[in-house]
Amino acid sequence: MTTLIIGGGWSGLAAAITLTQQGHAVHLIESAKQLGGRARNVQWQDQTLDNGQHLMIGAYDRMLAIMQLIGIDNNEVFHRYPIDISILDSEFSPLHLSTSGWLPWPLSLSWNLTKSAGVTGLIHVARLQTSIPRVLSTPDITVQEWLGNTKQSPRLIKQLWEPMCLATLNTPIDHASAHLLAKVLQDSLGKSKSDADLLIPKYPLGDLFPQKATDYIEQNGGKISLRTRADTLIVQDNKVQGVMTQGGQTITADQLIVALSPSQTSDLLAPLIKLNKPTEYPICTVYLQYSSDTRLPSAMLGLSGTISQWIFDRSEQTAGLMAVVISGPGKHETLDKKQLVEKVCQEIHQLLPAMPATVEHSFVIREKRATFACTVNVEQSRPQCKTAVEGLYLAGDFVANAYPATLEGAVRNGESCAKQLL
Ligand SMILES: Cc1cc2nc3c(=O)[nH]c(=O)nc-3n(C[C@H](O)[C@H](O)[C@H](O)COP(=O)(O)OP(=O)(O)OC[C@H]3O[C@@H](n4cnc5c(N)ncnc54)[C@H](O)[C@@H]3O)c2cc1C
Repeated sequence: MTTLIIGGGWSGLAAAITLTQQGHAVHLIESAKQLGGRARNVQWQDQTLDNGQHLMIGAYDRMLAIMQLIGIDNNEVFHRYPIDISILDSEFSPLHLSTSGWLPWPLSLSWNLTKSAGVTGLIHVARLQTSIPRVLSTPDITVQEWLGNTKQSPRLIKQLWEPMCLATLNTPIDHASAHLLAKVLQDSLGKSKSDADLLIPKYPLGDLFPQKATDYIEQNGGKISLRTRADTLIVQDNKVQGVMTQGGQTITADQLIVALSPSQTSDLLAPLIKLNKPTEYPICTVYLQYSSDTRLPSAMLGLSGTISQWIFDRSEQTAGLMAVVISGPGKHETLDKKQLVEKVCQEIHQLLPAMPATVEHSFVIREKRATFACTVNVEQSRPQCKTAVEGLYLAGDFVANAYPATLEGAVRNGESCAKQLL
């Protein structure tokens, strides 16, 4: 019995790997010419880049485990940095989040925060952290309300919580879910120091996972078909029979995993099951090619009060290449590419005068539907893996779990879907 998986993003691949490992036959179909979905390779000039700069953390344990399972050496493919981030702002002095120093975790983080935000800053952060269990056990509110309830200062809101909320939930604080942010903070800061480590991929994401996943699946008897779009699900007597592709081909299967983005899932399932279609928010990545000797003072930096939010030094991949990340909806969406590049360069130059005010080349990627919006009570609209149709299962980052749209959430849902199916 072969299981058909629709969608070759990280979730569909994780489901395929888990089933393959259990000796189960799989056939994965992917509409694009390559695997990887929202974490895929793109070509720019003669280089391979990510469609968007991704950042992972040490707490992504299922993602790391599945990579290891298929033979990826995580130490080789990621730079692992203890937290050491400065967030620059034109109004306030830099805020420094760091675990460096001799103090044990998490005191080291508190100590370094005290140095840049003062004792008051530390007290505010501690107040928010100790309120996490209460937030998680009461009805969901917005992050903004949570920050107000815990009396966070305007500086911390601007320089810490707003950027962190956008980076993790891709949703502005005035409608982001406090539950989801609390869960992220609990997992990344509440456990061991290594859970909070930042993992920055050394290689393009498409080379990192999809390529090795393909080898693993195919070498163990599975099949992957690219450029094959599922058009209609075939169901009879409430039981899955297979799929009709856009090219008119019928692929029979009595077990089916749909591992698509939220809007793609609800469109494909619409004739069968009505799913809530969540709002999806963009992420924009601006690649800036400076002269080859240009470097950031650290691997990544945060900027607050600006359109540019995070800047990553990609010099290891190409000397002088920087990736600027702009999460969520906002003013940047009204700028055309030229205006956006000019604005981003100016902002960086203003806060980091050593960086040139102009660039040699630039490349803007706007992923309009990068993630589902993590709004208040979004948890209630996330579907379960098992559907009312016999043999039909759902994976993908939107399926119910405790996380926002992340590679970890996508992998977890792929794995747990495969396990439920088995
Ligand atoms: C710019 C950007 C930056 C991000 N940054 C981070 C980050 O820093 N950290 C992090 O953890 N996460 C980040 N994310 C989120 C992360 O990439 C996603 O959560 C994850 O990739 C989702 O994987 P998925 O398999 O659930 O869905 P997808 O990746 O969307 O996979 C679905 C696949 O199905 C295919 N497909 C669609 N329709 C059909 C059809 N009808 N038939 C067959 N195939 C079909 C698509 O082509 C796609 O390959 C980012 C996302 C973006 C876009």
